[in-house]
Amino acid sequence: MDKQAIISGLQNLLGADRVQDDPEIIRKASVDYIGFRQYERFDGKDWVPKAACMVKPRSTEEVSKALTFLNQNCIDTVPRTGGSSVTQSIEPEEGGVILDGSEMNEIIALNEQDMMITARCGTPLEYLENYLNERGYTSGHFPQSLPLAHLGGLIATRSIGQLSTLYGGVEDILAGLEAVLADGEIIRIKNSPRRSVGPDLRHLFIGSEGMLGFITEATIKIFRHRPESRWMRAWAIKGMSAGLDLIREVMVEGYRPAVVRLHDAEEVQRMFSGLAPDDYCVLLFLAEGPASITAAIGQGIAEIAGRRETADLGTRPVESWFKTRNDVCYHMDEPVYYKYGVVADTCEISAPWSGIGGIYEAVRERLPKEMPNLVSIGGHSSHSYIQGTNIYFTFGFIVKNGVESARADYMKVITVIMEETLKRGGSIAHHHGSGKYRTRWMPEEHGSSYPLLRKLKDALDPNRILNKGVLLTD
Ligand SMILES: Cc1cc2nc3c(=O)[nH]c(=O)nc-3n(C[C@H](O)[C@H](O)[C@H](O)COP(=O)(O)OP(=O)(O)OC[C@H]3O[C@@H](n4cnc5c(N)ncnc54)[C@H](O)[C@@H]3O)c2cc1C
Repeated sequence: MDKQAIISGLQNLLGADRVQDDPEIIRKASVDYIGFRQYERFDGKDWVPKAACMVKPRSTEEVSKALTFLNQNCIDTVPRTGGSSVTQSIEPEEGGVILDGSEMNEIIALNEQDMMITARCGTPLEYLENYLNERGYTSGHFPQSLPLAHLGGLIATRSIGQLSTLYGGVEDILAGLEAVLADGEIIRIKNSPRRSVGPDLRHLFIGSEGMLGFITEATIKIFRHRPESRWMRAWAIKGMSAGLDLIREVMVEGYRPAVVRLHDAEEVQRMFSGLAPDDYCVLLFLAEGPASITAAIGQGIAEIAGRRETADLGTRPVESWFKTRNDVCYHMDEPVYYKYGVVADTCEISAPWSGIGGIYEAVRERLPKEMPNLVSIGGHSSHSYIQGTNIYFTFGFIVKNGVESARADYMKVITVIMEETLKRGGSIAHHHGSGKYRTRWMPEEHGSSYPLLRKLKDALDPNRILNKGVLLTD
C-alpha cells in the first residue's frame, strides 16, 4: 500500500487531525536515545527509516480501528508512548506507521481501598507519581527516565526503578491491563492481588516491546508515601568484588532497603568527587517505609558494613545522588559528549552472584585492549536480589572516522559486554530490553525456550505487523 493510501485510510477511520506526516514530526518520533543515534542527530545526519505517517489515537476504540486497518493491509506498525527508549525499539520500518499513544494520557481512577490506580497508556510517570504523592501515595516506580517515560512504554519494556529492592520492577506493581491485539481485538486482564487461573497473561505484555499488542490502559499497585522516615547511608570500600560481596550479605540476610547501589572507582571520580576517597568504590543505601522498619534496616546494614573494611561516608553521597539522579533527562537534547567527539552510553546486564564479578572484570579488561579509542569504561550495580544483581556499564569512546564509524564502534562495545555476560551465565539485558540492537543475541539468551517466543508471535500477530526487529531475529 502506498503512503497516500495509508494516510487516507487512517484519516477516514480516525479523522484527519489524528494522522500526521510532517517529515520533521516523523523524524523526531522515529529516533530514540541510543548513544550512536544521539551522536548522528547532533552531527546533522538523518538516517532513521522513514515511516509513512504517525497516528495518534485518543481512545482504545481508535487504537482498535487503526490496528484492524493496519493488520488487514499488512502494514508494519511501531507502538510508542514516551519515546525514551534507548534500544532503537521505536525506529519504524521504511513506509510503516508509528502508533503513538501519548495523547491517551488520563488517570481513570484511584482506588484507595484496594490500593491501585488505573491510567491510560500515555500517562507520564512523573505526572502519575506527583498525583499520588499529593494524596499520600507513591507508585514506588522511579526509573531515571521518570520525567520522560509513559505508562504503556514502562510496561512494554519491563522497566525498573531506582527503589527496586523494595518496590520491585514494573512486573511487581502491575495489577491488570487493557490491550488491543494486532487484529484490533480489545482484551482486558482483570486486576487481582494474586490468582491461580493458569499462566499469568499479564506477562504476555510485560516486556513485549510492542510486538504482541498495544497496551491501552493499566492498573498499578500503590504504596504509602513516607519520605519523612527515610534512612540513608554511604560507605567507601576498596574494589568492586568486596562491594558486591557486602551487598550479597545484606540481601541474603533478608534486609529490604529501597536503594542498594555500588559505584566503581571510575564512576566515583565523576559522581562523588569531594565526597569519597579516590580509588574507592562507593556503596549507597536508602530505606523507606514505617520508621520502625527503616531504623531496623539501617542498623542491620551498618552492622554488616562495620564488620568489613569500609569507611563510613555518612549521608552526603546518598543525598547528592538522590537530588541529582534524574538530571540527565533535562539535558538529552544538548550535545554534552558530541562536542568532544565522544559517544557515551550505558549497557545493563544481570547475573547470579557467582557470575557477576567475573563479567565486570572481563569487560573492563577486554575493552581497553580491543578499543584503543575507548576513553572510559566503568559501572555500577543498582538492582540487587537475593540471587544476584545487575551491572550497568557506563562507557565512552572517541569517534575516529566520522559519524559512519560511531555505530560500528558502539556495537563493538556491546558485543564484548554481551559475549562476556553469556559466557558466565548472565542475562544480556536487565531492564532496557532487546530493542533492535540486542536482537541477535536473543536466541543464545533464551536457548531452547526461544521458539516459544516465535510461537506466541505467530498466534498473536500472524501477519507480523507489530514492531518488526525487536526480540525476534526473523
Ligand atoms: C536518561 C534515561 C534513563 C533511563 N533510565 C531507565 C531506568 O532507570 N530504568 C528503566 O527501566 N529504563 C530506563 N530508561 C529506558 C526507558 O526510559 C524505558 O525503557 C521506558 O520504560 C520507556 O518508556 P516510554 O514510554 O518512553 O516508551 P517508548 O520509548 O515509547 O517505547 C519503548 C518500547 O515500548 C513499546 N511501547 C511503547 N508504548 C507501548 C504501548 N502502549 N503498547 C505496547 N508497546 C508499547 C515500544 O514499541 C518500544 O518497544 C532510560 C532512558 C533514558 C533516556
